[in-house]
Amino acid sequence: MYPKNAPQSFRCSRCGNTFKVDQGSNDICPICGFNCKTGHCQQLETSDEGY
Ligand SMILES: [Zn+2]
Repeated sequence: MYPKNAPQSFRCSRCGNTFKVDQGSNDICPICGFNCKTGHCQQLETSDEGY
């Protein structure tokens, strides 16, 4: 069971920027270029429930 449309966000542990990532395709912070895959960024689950 893989959630196909599970939007995920990373919170860069270097600059604090929060950015969306596609399924494991891009884990690089667009602001500072920090690699969140190896940098242990905080993972945030973004839900579209409008809260
Ligand atoms: Zn960053």
